[in-house]
Amino acid sequence: MRKAFICPSKYVQGENEILNLGFFIKDFGASALLIAHPDDVARVRKQLDETAKKFGVSFVESSFGGECSREEIARLQDVAKKNKCDCVVGLGGGKAIDTAKCVAAGHNLIIVPTIAATDAPTSHSAVIYTPDGAFEDYAYFKQSPNVVLIDTAIIAAAPVRFLVSGMGDALSTYFETRATRASFSNVNAGLPCGAREKQCAPAKGTNAAMALAQLCYETLLRDGAKAKVACEKKVVTQALENIVEANILLSGLGFESGGLAGAHAIHDGLTILPGTHKYFHGEKVAFGTIAQLVLENADTEELEQVLDFCLEVGLPVCLADIGVDAISEKELMEVAQKTCIPEESVHSMPFPVSPEAVAAAIAAADTIGREYKAT
Ligand SMILES: [Zn+2]
Repeated sequence: MRKAFICPSKYVQGENEILNLGFFIKDFGASALLIAHPDDVARVRKQLDETAKKFGVSFVESSFGGECSREEIARLQDVAKKNKCDCVVGLGGGKAIDTAKCVAAGHNLIIVPTIAATDAPTSHSAVIYTPDGAFEDYAYFKQSPNVVLIDTAIIAAAPVRFLVSGMGDALSTYFETRATRASFSNVNAGLPCGAREKQCAPAKGTNAAMALAQLCYETLLRDGAKAKVACEKKVVTQALENIVEANILLSGLGFESGGLAGAHAIHDGLTILPGTHKYFHGEKVAFGTIAQLVLENADTEELEQVLDFCLEVGLPVCLADIGVDAISEKELMEVAQKTCIPEESVHSMPFPVSPEAVAAAIAAADTIGREYKAT
């Protein structure tokens, strides 16, 4: 059986770690194209100046437009070329990070997440949008970022909702990896060039990815609530460090090398409901996880463990929690149909999945979550 595992060349995490950014830039040369939202640059201006001075490197600032679009990627590649930048630094949240991945296109890339809201930083993929912000395509690169550098002090100072949302994204990892493994479905780590390109030889997940996914779930259960308190107080504790690692490293490696299944496909389906748009990716994935557990008829004990965790840290457990106060039969079926399009990861579940089964699971999960919350 062909298996694959992919990860960044280096992952480094610590308090005030951003002060070492210049050290990693120096591996590539003297100058870095900085792709970051101006607000994020302002937050870390002092540290950027300090690390540049200490290690004798410079940042070429690009005034990132805020959208990971083909136009913005081409513009930034031009800026990098004109300034002879030796590497790209993507600093901030999802869009800046994805744009940096696209601009670097698999070469000399350092990612510096300033929030722990998703598991995207370590991956070798990005989502491309139109200049207006509508989904356009997925991009896959030949390798993951060279360095993922995380300053836990910066993460602790960010709004707590980001950290909790990251826990929602991480919550799905174990269950989706387990399902993908049971069905012998392919994982993204096997894709060297493009997700849907048939010429790419498919690959299954490794035991390593399964172990990381399990550790991810155990870490959430053990330290999730404590990490939330630390983030509310804007302090770095060991629990916060463990959750940052779970949200970014364990979940990131877990999803790419372990596989996506029901939870993320249900998330994608739910995005057609306008009410969900103001909720974060990880918040919707948390409900998607509950719906996947209902879809696969997981043990009651396991389902209740997940519900308890969500309620403990403040993640959604029902549709109303993600902005859907009422849903018609027609809307529910549209969500289920979107969840079940042929290229969706719901088909990595270890049994055939129909839109009817997904609609039933979402409706039941909604009721179970609502009633559990009320008790
Ligand atoms: Zn996700």
